[in-house]
Amino acid sequence: MANGKNQKVKIKEFKLNFNLRNVFLIIFVFLFLVYAYRSISSEVKKALPEKSLTTIVKEIKQGKIKKVDVIDNKILIYYSNDKLAVTYKETADSFTKILQDNKVDLNRVEVNVKDTQGSSGLASIVGNLLPTILMVAFFIFLFRQAKGAQDSVFSFGQSKAKRFIKSMTKTTFKDVAGVDEAKSELEEIVDFLKHSEKYKKLGARTPKGVLLVGPSGCGKTLLAKAVAGEANVPFFSIAGSEFMEMLVGIGAARVRDLFDNAKKSSPSIIFIDEIDAIGRARSAGVMPAHDEREQTLNQILVEMDGFNPNEQVIVIAATNRGDLLDSALLRPGRFDRRIVVDYPDVEGRKAIAKIHALGKPFDSTVNWDKVAKRTVGFSGADLENMLNEAAIYAARSGRDKISGEDIEEAATKVKLGPEKKRLQSDMDKKLTAYHEAGHAIVSHFLLHTDPVHRISIVSRGMALGYTLIPPAKDKLHETKTHLLEQISVMMGGRAAEETIFNEVTTGAANDFDQATSIAKAMVIEYGMSDLGPINYGPTMDVTEWGKNYYEQSPVSQEMMAKIDEEVKKIITTGFAKAVDIIKTNREVLDKVAEQLIKKESLDGDEFEKIVGKKT
Ligand code: ADP
Ligand code: MG
Ligand code: ZN
Repeated sequence: MANGKNQKVKIKEFKLNFNLRNVFLIIFVFLFLVYAYRSISSEVKKALPEKSLTTIVKEIKQGKIKKVDVIDNKILIYYSNDKLAVTYKETADSFTKILQDNKVDLNRVEVNVKDTQGSSGLASIVGNLLPTILMVAFFIFLFRQAKGAQDSVFSFGQSKAKRFIKSMTKTTFKDVAGVDEAKSELEEIVDFLKHSEKYKKLGARTPKGVLLVGPSGCGKTLLAKAVAGEANVPFFSIAGSEFMEMLVGIGAARVRDLFDNAKKSSPSIIFIDEIDAIGRARSAGVMPAHDEREQTLNQILVEMDGFNPNEQVIVIAATNRGDLLDSALLRPGRFDRRIVVDYPDVEGRKAIAKIHALGKPFDSTVNWDKVAKRTVGFSGADLENMLNEAAIYAARSGRDKISGEDIEEAATKVKLGPEKKRLQSDMDKKLTAYHEAGHAIVSHFLLHTDPVHRISIVSRGMALGYTLIPPAKDKLHETKTHLLEQISVMMGGRAAEETIFNEVTTGAANDFDQATSIAKAMVIEYGMSDLGPINYGPTMDVTEWGKNYYEQSPVSQEMMAKIDEEVKKIITTGFAKAVDIIKTNREVLDKVAEQLIKKESLDGDEFEKIVGKKT
């Protein structure tokens, strides 16, 4: 994967050579044919009826021959009746002399002696040498090709960084939303490069490296493009994986070249996308030491340290694995500014959706506030994808405007995968309906949970059904009460199965998985159990994380047993609560499940019609 891009380039190069070679081959074959034709045509001439010299002399005497061409030892005979013949003599002998010796009247025939040392001689020399010349030329050509290939091996060292100028990218900060802090930090940097004197006067030091960290699809690359669009300075962009080459040392050479170029055109910006491809923590011990990566990384560090204070080159790097980066990269004077580009909040999602909604027609059923609320956990890329899918749905059903339902459908598809047209037995359907209704009912009757947005028994991806309960408000803090309630909601599916059918299914595996990780985090990280406010797990410090991850846990065996005990307590309490709610609300549960079997999906309003408004 790391070499993918370069391989593509090489294939292209090869194709180009191949074409050149083809052209040459065609020329070669053509010339060869011409030469062959020449020799064949002389063969044809040779194939003229050959007569003896005596006969010819006799025929000249008889006046049958009007003209002869003497070419070396060959004599072409032109008869009066326009026939042709050929005869041979010794090269040293003169034809005229032969005629005179035989007492032929020289006036009876026209004798043309062609100068063999002259033009025809040259022609024959060229003719004879032609194949040799062609062969030599061909080999020279091949040799040059080989040399060219060698040269391109050496040119690997040059960075392939694309250089952007302002007019080349239309992306600006206007195209980015929901990541306001990151935006304003980068705006500052753009300003720094644009008006460097202003900062210099006040003695401010140029920031050297900016690291954009965040999950994929949240707009890191987009932000960098926007910086390129905004800054009126040269912008060099390269992806970390492009540094990785098959030849050791090439990555480092590339880095050198890239930085040299950037320095030459300072003030300038270097953007290294996906830097984790090179900058992975060296001590993590996950994979064997990778010489190439190590050298490339070292070269980056050397270059960044080598900037002199007014060099005015800023390095922006992006990664979605900030936790895996080598701590050497993060030291002061290197990537000392860390900008988190995280999932957008409600307001951010609304703004991003608006950006990508531009140019698409929507009908009046679309409520952007609702869309923003519903799309918890969506990245910018997810939102873009969602609106695109919605447009496809609308187009497919022949409407000219996108509806709220299209967006809802698209949002579900983006997160849960496309609908599966699985054949379900009635019993399967019933089980799924009660399972999902269980989640919804438990959530509905708990005090601190959010309203149910949608329940469905249409299977998608891995899920047989789903219940969506997006948070109504963005919370900065999760409370213990809310986390415990969430665990109860997750247990709601299994609780319903058990209560109604006195049977359990495999469908709850994912619920347990999620519930368990919440419970574990409560005990280990958040200090929300009887074990008290102590962190029992790996530290959360990102720069340290890579290092500690493979070290022995500092927790003793007894403590681990206690942690397990606490986790179990949280889960079983949550489960008991869920069963309790299911049992007391059995009637509405039946109604919801029944509707689900009939309609397959219920939205929040339909659900509330059955169970009443959430308090
Ligand atoms: P990353 O580099 O963080 O993985 P990208 O910048 O490549 O993510 O984002 C992919 C696409 O998603 C962008 O081209 C853009 O269309 C959309 N997108 C992501 N984040 C945002 C955002 N904050 N605002 C607007 N569009 C966004
Ligand atoms: Mg990216
Ligand atoms: Zn479930």
